[in-house]
Amino acid sequence: MTTFRSFKQVQSALSNQLTTCVEITNSYLQKIEEHNHLNAFIQVYTDEALSQALAVDRKLENGTAGKLAGMVIAIKDNLCYKDHKVSASSKILDGFESLFSATVVDRLLAADAIIIGRLNCDEFAMGSANENTIYGTVKNPLDNTKVAGGSSGGSAAAVAAGLCLATLGSDTGGSIRQPAAFCGIVGLKPTYSRVSRYGLIAYASSFDQIGPLTNTVQDSALLLEVIAGEDEFDSTVSTRKVDEYSKAPLSDSPKRIAYIKECLESKGLDPEIKLVIENKIEELKAEGHIVEPISFSYLDYLVPTYYVITTAEASSNLARFDGVHYGYRSENITNLESTYINSRTEGFGEEVKRRIMLGTFVLSAGYHDAYFTKAQKIRRLIQDKTNEMFKDYDFVISPTTPHTPFAIGTKHTDPTIMYLEDIFTVQANLAGNPAISIPIQNHSNGMSIGLHIMADNFKESDLLAFSKYMNKEG
Ligand code: GLN
Repeated sequence: MTTFRSFKQVQSALSNQLTTCVEITNSYLQKIEEHNHLNAFIQVYTDEALSQALAVDRKLENGTAGKLAGMVIAIKDNLCYKDHKVSASSKILDGFESLFSATVVDRLLAADAIIIGRLNCDEFAMGSANENTIYGTVKNPLDNTKVAGGSSGGSAAAVAAGLCLATLGSDTGGSIRQPAAFCGIVGLKPTYSRVSRYGLIAYASSFDQIGPLTNTVQDSALLLEVIAGEDEFDSTVSTRKVDEYSKAPLSDSPKRIAYIKECLESKGLDPEIKLVIENKIEELKAEGHIVEPISFSYLDYLVPTYYVITTAEASSNLARFDGVHYGYRSENITNLESTYINSRTEGFGEEVKRRIMLGTFVLSAGYHDAYFTKAQKIRRLIQDKTNEMFKDYDFVISPTTPHTPFAIGTKHTDPTIMYLEDIFTVQANLAGNPAISIPIQNHSNGMSIGLHIMADNFKESDLLAFSKYMNKEG
């Protein structure tokens, strides 16, 4: 079977009766098997995916198929799918099965997508390399000695290696965009509240958003259209109308684009990535767009602010995993207290425990004002400053990551070095804005370079239309 890189290709093969959903699903199942070494999939729903595919084939025959008919998709292991295991790559959820499905999962199924399996990720979505997982590090399909990025590393690797057409991930500080950049694909983080978080295992609830990882911008647009919108199960979700993102046209007017001077001047930025972005800026200017440098003096505050607030939220969200309600319980228990202590000590991985402790510390009575309250104030300043940017500009561009993927095992020892991976992506989460990573060019080391584009809140239509233009999608 030919490898499909876009849903349009799938649809045309199906409508010309060159293939069937069952055939497509079978060929992905085979590919997953052949790429077991990538550690992208945790579980493959072989029989179920094939029966879904058969049902969709029937619907296609009688003209009742939904918008995503024939799209084979896999989901990050922090999204609940009724009667299926979900673990957030953690021992603490060992054996746990979802009692309900995430809203996004229900919407995919209602649109006739075929769900083929669940994907490896960093434990509770905490990480930038998909090394914090009980299932083994995810390998980058472009170079198996390198990390795939995180925390949605399995979601990015699966799409890049052609193990399914699209995936869903979650993004709290860059977890969709950074692995997408590392694996050379497209990753979209919608505006905070655009997509219901119901059924997403919470990491930091005021940051978390679910979004697509795909080969093309068009497929991300289509998926967003299906998963976005009002939901009675998530009181934080926006009631704004969902646009037809997949049909959004790019207006002819020149775009006003800003780039943050301090980003391009930052010490850790790979000189070749810097050059590629500078060339892109010149190209855009030559095409008639207005591209200007702006200053953002809070760049150095982004990562610390992010880590104070997200660890605080995580320490609260993860309190529910107590050895009683869900999954894993230590065998080493004598009373209620030792049930909590030993189950949590044995069940959580090192990074998750580090963050729970840090979060508990910044929320503690003596330090609350010094850390948590201060970080909240800085977050507000960052939000205000970001909103100001979009008064004058349509888009803010930067590299997605300061460098291309690093070798597996090399950054694991110092968490603060790993935290700096998020330098260019966290602004969008702190402020809530939509942002995307698209592959723009290959590095001389053979890896891909991602361009990060951020837009004003709820301007996904413009963001996606412009990204299609940048990705040279017709
Ligand atoms: N790398 C960031 C972190 O470890 C982002 C994670 C995410 O977006 N889920 O928190």
